[in-house]
Amino acid sequence: MEREFDAIVVGGGLAGLVAAAELADKGKRTLLLDQEPEASLGGQAWWSFGGLFLVDSPEQRRLGVKDSKELALQDWMGSAGFDRAEEDHWGRKWAEAYIDFAAGEKRAWLHGLGVRFFPIVGWAERGGYLAEGHGNSVPRFHIVWGTGPAIVAPFERRVREHRDGGRLVYLPRHRVDRLIRQQGAVVGVSGSVLAASDAARGEASSRDITGDFEYRARAVLVTSGGIGGNPDLVRANWPSRLGEPPKHMLSGVPAHVDGRMLGIAEEAGGRIVNRDRMWHYTEGIRNWSPIWPNHGIRILPGPSSLWLDARGKRLPAPNFPGFDTLGTLETLRHTGYDYSWFILTQKIIEKEFALSGSEQTPDLTGKSVRQVLSRVLPGPTAPVQAFLDKGEDFVVADNLAELVAGMNRLTGEGLLRFEEIERQVLARDREMDNAFTKDLQITALRGARQYKGDKFIRVARPHKLLDPKSGPLIAVRLHIVSRKTLGGLQTDLSGRVLGTDGAPVPGLYAAGEASGFGGGGMHGYRALEGTFLGGCLFSGRTAGRAAAEDIG
Ligand SMILES: Cc1cc2nc3c(=O)[nH]c(=O)nc-3n(C[C@H](O)[C@H](O)[C@H](O)COP(=O)(O)OP(=O)(O)OC[C@H]3O[C@@H](n4cnc5c(N)ncnc54)[C@H](O)[C@@H]3O)c2cc1C
Repeated sequence: MEREFDAIVVGGGLAGLVAAAELADKGKRTLLLDQEPEASLGGQAWWSFGGLFLVDSPEQRRLGVKDSKELALQDWMGSAGFDRAEEDHWGRKWAEAYIDFAAGEKRAWLHGLGVRFFPIVGWAERGGYLAEGHGNSVPRFHIVWGTGPAIVAPFERRVREHRDGGRLVYLPRHRVDRLIRQQGAVVGVSGSVLAASDAARGEASSRDITGDFEYRARAVLVTSGGIGGNPDLVRANWPSRLGEPPKHMLSGVPAHVDGRMLGIAEEAGGRIVNRDRMWHYTEGIRNWSPIWPNHGIRILPGPSSLWLDARGKRLPAPNFPGFDTLGTLETLRHTGYDYSWFILTQKIIEKEFALSGSEQTPDLTGKSVRQVLSRVLPGPTAPVQAFLDKGEDFVVADNLAELVAGMNRLTGEGLLRFEEIERQVLARDREMDNAFTKDLQITALRGARQYKGDKFIRVARPHKLLDPKSGPLIAVRLHIVSRKTLGGLQTDLSGRVLGTDGAPVPGLYAAGEASGFGGGGMHGYRALEGTFLGGCLFSGRTAGRAAAEDIG
């Protein structure tokens, strides 16, 4: 087989597929390498919920949401909190460019590729601070009709067409171990051919080596993802502002998200910035039917559940479900325990629990209108019911005393006192007697129902937790679940990787999570959600186009 290509793309996740398709579209001979078997093509994005951040879309307007580029920029900057002169220099520029994209051509471009959206827009990261603080002022989380697989599909299709047309070579089970440099420029890759594997999509595959390889090209694009599947790296980079790293955490990503390639790119002269910025969730439950090792599922919660720490103390405002992921993580890391609790009712779980992962939303992933409509019927979705029946983190009881006893039994730690939890639940329920209240969580959920989308499918009618008509009561033990890497290889607005001197490393490009979704961290400290897939699309497209142009 040929040894020389115009461009090599390392990693066949969403960013790599987009970049490879762009390169081959421009007639560039492209080599796509991935350490996983072909069954896992598409990487994390295939498993994703398919939530995409769009600004001022027809879906928002139909639901009466007034959004604008200015409002989105205000929210983004309030969440990002960029405060590092050098490390944030390019991340900030990428953020501005990304807002333009999300408010501009993103939807039309995707629509042209056949991507469609569920009509109800979700409201992720609601914030809970002031106008210039963290969070989305309005709902912007647009769910791809068909979830993760449907956002991968158009790009996978283009890559396969290019392969069939002889413009692109795709080699699975090829793990890059080194970037080859000559006179300061990256001119190729070398690595190990891994043993053939019949691991199903997302499953960990063996690392047995059967051979080696070396390929050369004028441009090498690193699209190898982040570090979320490597708990040692997550702990090593854990920022002290978030307290101690958790001893116990679940993995929200497949094992291939190992962060190894980032070190390899660094050795070749690339600069990694903002290593201490990451995005992990606090509403993780252990998957009763795991696909990858230590598989955790994130609950995408509506705002009504009562959130208690491991000792049963209600979390302070605004640590409400779905408001401020990292703010809540920080609060929880200072409790001294790795888990926390939701207490809720059957009524709340029916309306407010969604599970992040394409396999956990068969109605949306399978594009079944009939199944989606059945969400308005009583009862939780089938995957949520399966967790209630089989998940190890769930307790169901007819009264609070039994519930607390069950929670204590589950952990075996006996940290919870019934009287203390009852006092807080009663206090919260007393705040329901008027249409107005001092309890900010109740104010927030009443406010949320002013938004049609929340009222239809997301926020339960406010009710007392101890109202037997809303029961039974449910408690969910919540773990920390690792997910996204917000920092990464610093890139300029063409996706060229920069060295420690700030100048591009000739021949080296990066996109997707490996580049902090652009610039080495376009999110700054915090994300608005739905911005990761979009970040892969935008940075993958940009790097692919720029590399094609640079190659000439
Ligand atoms: C369950 C789940 C739900 C999510 N939901 C959402 C959502 O709703 N909205 C959103 O915006 N984001 C979501 N995300 C995040 C988003 O899916 C990821 O951030 C994004 O897909 C990352 O894509 P990537 O191409 O950068 O990396 P990856 O998907 O990680 O792909 C990287 C590829 O590189 C390969 N690779 C790594 N190292 C090497 C090497 N040395 N040699 C060869 N190959 C290598 C890997 O095998 C892998 O195939 C979700 C993620 C998960 C897991």
